[in-house]
Amino acid sequence: MLDIDDSRMLTPSLLGELGTIATRAALLDQDDSFPSEDVAALAAIGTLAAPFASLPGGGAARDPDDLMEALRAIGHASLPLGRLFEGHVNAAALIRRYGTSRQRESAFRRARDGALFGVWNTEGADGVRLVRRGRHLELHGAKIFASGAGHVACPLITARDEEGGLLMVLPRLDGSSRADLSAWKAHGMRASASGAFCFTGLRVEPADILGQPGDYHRQPHFSAGAWRFCAVQLGGIDRLVDEAASYLRRHGRDTDPHQRARMGEAMIAAETARLWVERAARIAEAEEAATDERTAGNAVAYVNLARCAVERCGLQVMELVQRSIGLSAFQRTSPVERLCRDLSTYLRQPAPDRALCEGAAHVLAQEPPMRELWR
Ligand SMILES: Cc1cc2nc3c(=O)[nH]c(=O)nc-3n(C[C@H](O)[C@H](O)[C@H](O)COP(=O)(O)OP(=O)(O)OC[C@H]3O[C@@H](n4cnc5c(N)ncnc54)[C@H](O)[C@@H]3O)c2cc1C
Repeated sequence: MLDIDDSRMLTPSLLGELGTIATRAALLDQDDSFPSEDVAALAAIGTLAAPFASLPGGGAARDPDDLMEALRAIGHASLPLGRLFEGHVNAAALIRRYGTSRQRESAFRRARDGALFGVWNTEGADGVRLVRRGRHLELHGAKIFASGAGHVACPLITARDEEGGLLMVLPRLDGSSRADLSAWKAHGMRASASGAFCFTGLRVEPADILGQPGDYHRQPHFSAGAWRFCAVQLGGIDRLVDEAASYLRRHGRDTDPHQRARMGEAMIAAETARLWVERAARIAEAEEAATDERTAGNAVAYVNLARCAVERCGLQVMELVQRSIGLSAFQRTSPVERLCRDLSTYLRQPAPDRALCEGAAHVLAQEPPMRELWR
């Protein structure tokens, strides 16, 4: 296994790749595309292996600031690649937390050899079930909105067993054509290839099952892990501010007082998002969140509120940037046009109303004053 140094994410090699990734992101903004070259580049510099590297003592927690800055930096270059890498990191977190040592080592080797992982939970009416066929288990059903469908080599999926329990499975794909991207005709995030994937007929060995029934939804990790998509979204928000500032400078409009006031508001929103995400990452990844009930409850509530704050900041920055640049921001030749489509699509995450209300309910049920609440 890799040692601690190899588990770092924000490396000079990664920073060196981001310019090329950002250039390719513009070319990949079309249906049925996928950033294969970017994924290969991340594999070549060790960024795919790093989330699976073991830490001294076998702990599951990583340096939250390092991971946050890596997700943010990749999101700044390409939101679709950021989504794919976020899925890869999410799979690594689940495998490191719930996997056997054999599963962890096998996943690490595969990631080091260039395999992209993903977590596919979302499903429609034909959700994935584990059914018994004689002495074997078999998968039936499909996932939808599965990022990297047809490209992810190692999906981690959820499946209901015959008793109704929700299990995590690491299916062995058989190489047949099971992805269907025909319904992924998205406004933005096109290159994330978030299509459907059919698992019917794939045999499952006991060694392919990860953890125990119910582990996937185990708190605080299930809800608090949402900070990672917020970190990628933050990268997209930063990028919009950068693009607008550059546009205003190039067009000699940066000294106008109205533009300055509007960009000031955008900078406040971007920094607000950063502060929320940074603290959410630290609270969610703290070791005590896994063991102490009060800290776990705080972590879930804080990340739920952070999700809403980042969404609000993202929507606000898009409006401000579009108003500052004007009609040019709506031309398909402008990077801002694509970035707004990508960000507004990626901001759609599960049950935002519930996240806000559950976060608020947690705070309302507490005695401590606000200044002590998240400690
Ligand atoms: C780019 C992209 C990539 C993705 N990749 C993956 C992936 O790899 N794997 C995966 O598993 N998923 C993936 N997803 C899907 C994602 O996890 C969510 O399922 C999806 O984003 C939910 O969006 P939604 O707006 O339909 O959410 P919803 O939860 O349906 O929310 C829509 C609206 O309905 C409200 N609402 C929600 N529930 C209720 C209710 N019960 N009653 C009334 N109102 C309700 C919400 O508050 C909101 O206002 C991806 C999504 C995106 C955008």
